[in-house]
Amino acid sequence: HVETLRKPSWIRVRIPTGNAVQKLKEKLRENALVTVCEEASCPNIHECFGHGTATFMILGEVCTRRCSFCDVAHGRPKPPDAAEPLKLALTIKDMGLKYVVVTSVDRDDLRDGGAGHFATCIHEIRTHAPNTKIEILTPDFRGKGRMERALEIFRDAPPDVFNHNIETVPELYRNVRPGADYQWSLTLLQQFKAQHPDVTTKSGIMLGLGETMEQVEGTLRDLRAHDVDMITIGQYLQPSAHHHPVLRYWTPEEFKQLEEFGYALGFTHVASGPLVRSSYHADRSAAEAGVN
Ligand code: SF4
Ligand code: SF4
Repeated sequence: HVETLRKPSWIRVRIPTGNAVQKLKEKLRENALVTVCEEASCPNIHECFGHGTATFMILGEVCTRRCSFCDVAHGRPKPPDAAEPLKLALTIKDMGLKYVVVTSVDRDDLRDGGAGHFATCIHEIRTHAPNTKIEILTPDFRGKGRMERALEIFRDAPPDVFNHNIETVPELYRNVRPGADYQWSLTLLQQFKAQHPDVTTKSGIMLGLGETMEQVEGTLRDLRAHDVDMITIGQYLQPSAHHHPVLRYWTPEEFKQLEEFGYALGFTHVASGPLVRSSYHADRSAAEAGVN
């Protein structure tokens, strides 16, 4: 049993009220689309929606995996909704979004891990909202032949940014990310970059699950060694009492230290801070990293 740590002041954020977010939420309901921003009660929602950024979750809300930090439901997912890519694209157009992150649960039940559905979404967004930048935040496509199939599918429909989160240090994988494999995730990132040298690659890690500074630095080195361009580093927050506990709140100074370490390694953009999420400031980070 681990005592629940008290949240330090830099974690508590004031949620402003405003009807811009309300309006966007209504549009989302009309179109039956799901955003991670709302589902995860992300503290950055006003800022992101206000800037024309949102993170959409495609392929349903039921995951075939069971990571100890994650709040998504587990079980047997439904088949992909063939109408979803067009609905997503029209909603993005309607909301006037400038930068979208499209993500999904793990679909170990699908031969291509859901890559085909991602590619159709990219295609529909390019058709209906041609000026919107697209970042995809994908699962690891783990399983025999699945990574090859996914890469083949993305060959003709690349996003503007390819993001796959490494989530934690290799030492904690068994406990935190069972069903995933550290080297597999690194290989996916590297192979995507090899296939699309002009597309920015990105990954992210959460702190507070029991990792050490040395281990985090090791993971950042590994990501650079696999040609990853951008990195996000944020504090893990426990979604409920049933999830992995927060073992430590890393301090803003430590996040700063990791930011400097990341830039010294050669990342084109490092977002490191307690409230940083995989998609936090995704639009500005991409612009700063030269995505155009
Ligand atoms: Fe949504 Fe990501 Fe922004 Fe949070 S940080 S509001 S999940 S886009
Ligand atoms: Fe959550 Fe992704 Fe793990 Fe599924 S694979 S439980 S969505 S973190």
